[in-house]
Amino acid sequence: MVNILITGGAGFIGSNLIRVLLQSGQYKITAIDNFDNFYSLAQKELNIRDFLNHPDFKLVKGDIRYMPDLNQVGDIDVIIHLAAKAGVRPSIKNPVLYQDVNVGGTQTLLEFAKERGIKQFVFASSSSVYGINHNVPWNEEEKLLPISPYASTKLSAEMLGHVYSRLYGIRFLALRFFTVYGPAQRPDLAIHKFFKNILNEIAIPVYGDGSTSRDYTFVADTVKGIVSAINYDKSSFEIINLGNNKTVTLSQLIGAIEKVCGTSAIIDRQPEQPGDVPQTFADITKAQELLDYHPSTSLEDGLQQFYTWFKAYEDVIQKDY
Ligand code: NAD
Repeated sequence: MVNILITGGAGFIGSNLIRVLLQSGQYKITAIDNFDNFYSLAQKELNIRDFLNHPDFKLVKGDIRYMPDLNQVGDIDVIIHLAAKAGVRPSIKNPVLYQDVNVGGTQTLLEFAKERGIKQFVFASSSSVYGINHNVPWNEEEKLLPISPYASTKLSAEMLGHVYSRLYGIRFLALRFFTVYGPAQRPDLAIHKFFKNILNEIAIPVYGDGSTSRDYTFVADTVKGIVSAINYDKSSFEIINLGNNKTVTLSQLIGAIEKVCGTSAIIDRQPEQPGDVPQTFADITKAQELLDYHPSTSLEDGLQQFYTWFKAYEDVIQKDY
């Protein structure tokens, strides 16, 4: 059995990852999460409640910034570091906190890996590091032009990973996720917010004219890429896009969600937001080659799966938005 530490395990991507790893029967999982108040505690508890009695699962309620919390964790072979302050717009309001958790927290975790002799470190980076680079689809060599504090913290953490891979032989894989969606998605993200508002007959805020576009990636596809990175051993430092290689405009997205809900959205048109990039679009050639990564979920199918999850748990999810 491989011992894996997942930071941010009670979150959206973390809980989807844990489910897949436990089902495989090949891993012992420790999740560390401080259940921060970025969104509903009830949703995070829902995310992990199925794992709590699993013999191969342990939860540490703790903060990645504090070594004493990390030291509650037993033997570990691989770290998958997903814990972060996520979200572009809130990072503009609170840049110092984002720096503290996303950069300081990553460094503390790298120190922990160094002290424990842990040699495999998978890091959740973000497409936001490409920022306003217009040369899409982006490959990993593209110029980085981040325009939010959040994006710059992800870039800083990638660079810390390079330092630790060189100095201490910790293999560091920065996976740049592209707008991940699916069951358990965070309530601050557009797809979740749009479903919630449309189903409650509340207007949806649409920033700009609807022409901005995103490379939406279904969470099960992202998770496959992460699982593949657990065993990657060909080099000591890599940055790899985990996108879908398809872009969808905001207007197209709303149309697709209306179709799943069987009802029309009320649009509340708002100006474009500072920090938001006009487009994201991943070149996934490198992920295909290094991780055998082949995202396969269509937007229609993925949105349907989100809807099924939302309807099944709406009482819990909507309790304390
Ligand atoms: P999430 O907020 O659902 O999960 C993050 C988890 O980290 C939360 O459960 C939170 O309680 C925990 N956490 C926060 N600060 C912590 C701390 N100091 N110590 C311990 N735990 C802490 O977010 P998510 O959408 O699942 O994202 C997971 C990772 O992927 C994040 O690093 C995020 O930046 C990155 N990412 C996500 C997306 C996306 O579309 N969801 C896109 C690009 C990158």
